[in-house]
Amino acid sequence: MNDCIFCKIINNEMPAQKIYENDKVLAFLDIHPCNYGHTLVVPKNHYKDLLDTPKEIVAELMSAVQKIAPAVVKGSNAQGFNLGLNNGSAAGQIIFHAHFHIIPRFAGDGLIQWGHKEYAEGGMEKIKNEIIKHLR
Ligand code: 5GP
Ligand code: ZN
Repeated sequence: MNDCIFCKIINNEMPAQKIYENDKVLAFLDIHPCNYGHTLVVPKNHYKDLLDTPKEIVAELMSAVQKIAPAVVKGSNAQGFNLGLNNGSAAGQIIFHAHFHIIPRFAGDGLIQWGHKEYAEGGMEKIKNEIIKHLR
């Protein structure tokens, strides 16, 4: 994908602060971090989102996350991390090259967490059944 920023970073056509790479995966710092040390973990091949990414590559990504996240936490003096993935523009995906976000977290850092809703009577069972219907 020649107009994809992450493909350009992978191909060394654009600079990035790289943290880790192997033959399938690259990790580099997010240019606009939620907290300093915010790291992106991307497949070296172009897949537009998580669902487009083959299972074995997802496994490679997760294995890289397990390796990299403790280093991100220690290297940024954080106490924890969030692992995130925005799938689709409604979910906030801007770059359509699959990627996980590793976001270092500090107690009381004030980052906005997901909100919570309450189910109406029967609402939980209804949506559970709808979801199960679509499992493949
Ligand atoms: P998304 O919203 O698609 O899940 O996240 C895309 C992320 O890529 C954003 O957090 C954004 O800051 C980061 N990003 C966008 N352009 C660049 C870039 O040129 N270099 C780096 N290192 N990160 C980028
Ligand atoms: Zn790409």
